[in-house]
Amino acid sequence: MVGPKNKLLEVEGRMNREEQLASLRSHSFDILVIGGGATGTGVALDAASRGLSVALVERDDFGSGTSSRSTKLIHGGVRYLEQAVKHFDRSQFNLVRDALHERAVLLRIAPHLSRPLPLVTPLYNWLEVPYYLTGLKLYDWLAGKANLHASRFVDASEALSRFPMLKPEGLRGGVIYYDGQFDDARMNVTIARTAAQQGAVIANYVEVLSLLKEGGRVRGAQVRDTLTGDRWDLAATVVVNATGPFSDTIRRMDDAQAATMLSSSSGAHIVLAGRFSPPGTGLLIPQTEDGRVLFLLPWLEHTLVGTTDHPSPIERHPRATENDIAYILRHVRKYFAVPVSRDDVLASWSGLRPLVSDPTAADTAKLSRDHVINISSSGLITIAGGKWTTYRKMALDTVSEAQRLGQLGGSRTSQTATLPLVGGANYTPAAAGMLQERFGFDAEVASHLNQAYGDQAEEVAVLAGDGYSRRLHPHHPYLEAEVIYAARHEAARRTVDVLARRTRLGFLDQAAALAAVPRVAELLGEEFNWSVEQRAGDETDAKAYFG
Ligand SMILES: Cc1cc2nc3c(=O)[nH]c(=O)nc-3n(C[C@H](O)[C@H](O)[C@H](O)COP(=O)(O)OP(=O)(O)OC[C@H]3O[C@@H](n4cnc5c(N)ncnc54)[C@H](O)[C@@H]3O)c2cc1C
Repeated sequence: MVGPKNKLLEVEGRMNREEQLASLRSHSFDILVIGGGATGTGVALDAASRGLSVALVERDDFGSGTSSRSTKLIHGGVRYLEQAVKHFDRSQFNLVRDALHERAVLLRIAPHLSRPLPLVTPLYNWLEVPYYLTGLKLYDWLAGKANLHASRFVDASEALSRFPMLKPEGLRGGVIYYDGQFDDARMNVTIARTAAQQGAVIANYVEVLSLLKEGGRVRGAQVRDTLTGDRWDLAATVVVNATGPFSDTIRRMDDAQAATMLSSSSGAHIVLAGRFSPPGTGLLIPQTEDGRVLFLLPWLEHTLVGTTDHPSPIERHPRATENDIAYILRHVRKYFAVPVSRDDVLASWSGLRPLVSDPTAADTAKLSRDHVINISSSGLITIAGGKWTTYRKMALDTVSEAQRLGQLGGSRTSQTATLPLVGGANYTPAAAGMLQERFGFDAEVASHLNQAYGDQAEEVAVLAGDGYSRRLHPHHPYLEAEVIYAARHEAARRTVDVLARRTRLGFLDQAAALAAVPRVAELLGEEFNWSVEQRAGDETDAKAYFG
């Protein structure tokens, strides 16, 4: 089957939804991917980079599921390493090692959206020092050449100078180790754009309603544009189900009797002002009251704290509960010398962690932290589990399975280990200074644009010069130009897309996002010629989302 090659996208690296839809309607594909989170967009990118024709449909917005709601760490997982040691679990060791390798890849291919971050583990008991130092040295060792910096013990005064908000009484010292940190939703849309640049056809707001079969084999899907209601059939040699917590729903479209593969636990985070963390260091609270770890991280000039973790039903719009918020604040207060109250919480959110049991494994009760690829008897490939950090490896394994199953050609091997994501190829931190000089932005705006858009920041700057230079909110560096850019080049279609995922205002400061809703809806309305009713509907949805 021959898929489209979108020359415009190859030249400009943009993702125009209308062009993508036209291609979706008029072609058949080697692979159809269902789900536009980290996993699905990663699969689309990998497949396109091998020269396969690939389509991806996402029923909501890119990253609107779990992939915009993570802790934003690119990590091997110190907690998983602890489990590996405690249970002599070789597969967990491999998982941590693979993730540490992927950490290095992601920092390399998306330097604008990610950075290494030192974290302090504060220790109030001398007996804990050898335990955590040995564990984190093992973490370094497993990373091998991909290690960022050596972990080390620091005395109490250095721990306090690195993280001054810590309670000094009884502090013995800390262990400093390194992981990566990133902007998950922007990374998600950037992977989608890079896939489109490689020739993938990708559309948000297109839902799979049912699967199509030919001779007992899954050969595509009936889909619906959720913005217009249009339905059509999309043919593909292989279908990949990458719908995270919703994987079982798609599996049951294939086989109504399919065994349950997914369960989910919900994880909540809160955001506090930037003054609650130093700009360049995070904190790992190693042991909460119920034996979890809790991270307190500087993120986009704010402080992110999370996560809780408890079993929960699978739902489309999970929210952090007051209990979640109280739990997190309780732990922050335990470690903090500065007071923190409920009023300091600027935003909160919750996400569903897809936990997978392999339906073909002997022990299906055993939940895996690794990813699982399941192929049904009619050829539906389901990829689930894993974590954000390992999306590229998950995609690599999935596309290899799809190639084998569908006897697909492909003109190259996967390029994703070295292919820079859009904005990353010519990114340099120094470009912020150039943006300030050439376009007259203040330092805060210039630095934000440089990090969010990398070497594409100038395109946003030019839009700002065309009359969109005002901030969306006086306390935050997001510009009106970003709304226009998101609509034209990043397939944003609703105010929530812009405020929650193209910018991160809604994840940082819900009151500010709420205040920005009318102006964003006005700008999108002008861009898309909305009727008065359409704009009012969009505003109402956004206000409900951030309210
Ligand atoms: C609280 C929390 C914190 C985390 N922190 C980290 C971290 O710091 N680092 C890390 O590496 N990992 C982290 N993870 C794990 C990571 O976020 C997930 O593994 C990853 O985001 C899963 O991505 P996904 O694409 O599989 O699922 P999702 O992002 O949920 O994407 C699935 C998509 O499928 C779409 N979909 C569903 N049904 C249909 C349909 N019928 N048609 C079309 N589309 C459909 C949904 O709308 C959704 O967008 C965290 C997870 C949680 C819950």
